Amino acid sequence: MKRLCAKLSTDPRVLTSLPLEIDPDEVLRFQGYKKSGEAPGPEVRALLGEALALGRRLMAPRAVIRWLPVVGRGADTIAAGGVVLTIPDVGRSWGPIDWIAAAVCTIGDGLEDRVAELWAGRELPLAAMLDSVGSGAVESLAEYVNDLLCQEAIPLGLPVTNRVSPGYGRWDVTQQRALFALCPGEAIGVRLNEACFMTPVKSISLLAAAGAGAKVDHYFSQCARCWMAGCAYRRTPVRGTVHSS
Ligand code: SF4
Repeated sequence: MKRLCAKLSTDPRVLTSLPLEIDPDEVLRFQGYKKSGEAPGPEVRALLGEALALGRRLMAPRAVIRWLPVVGRGADTIAAGGVVLTIPDVGRSWGPIDWIAAAVCTIGDGLEDRVAELWAGRELPLAAMLDSVGSGAVESLAEYVNDLLCQEAIPLGLPVTNRVSPGYGRWDVTQQRALFALCPGEAIGVRLNEACFMTPVKSISLLAAAGAGAKVDHYFSQCARCWMAGCAYRRTPVRGTVHSS
């Protein structure tokens, strides 16, 4: 453990100016297009292109991340950094973990503000597409951060689990407070309201874990967009990347 403590930083780290590439498939998913369904026509493609170009100018991707050694584990709990997280069934789904990584990411509020202006100006198709670009961008950013965490832990022989977020699946949204106690979202301008929702809206908080015996889900698709060349742990071929060149 000492060797690992020396390598995985337990201080919160703020990452700015991230070279993020937005996955267009992610944007189209928010527009209701499924891979197995009908492909978008030329008009939708043109609107997507316009909204992507606008979104790239308006987004300001940034993240704060923090690794913490795990000091206690239960069927539904993880203790680390003076906080006990309650995540249903986490003991079974993640197995024996040694570390957790908490992160908060955001693309800022510039894109959101422009969407509001477009709605007000009745430019509805572009407003809706730009909103989807923002949703796709922050999902791509969460993927980027998850890949980054994996790239830090993998060289130490520590596989990294899939990410989970408060408010998704069976993890209660009120656990946002515990996650923010571990990882200060305020450092990148992300705040929680009374209902535990984040501002700016296009923000994602996440938790992943690492350990020599950590379980990696069979549906794990993270490698598909990871840019780490020659990774011996890669589970699926790269089909694109969330890292811009
Ligand atoms: S290729 Fe997969 S296992 Fe390797 S660092 Fe990237 S996400 Fe992790």
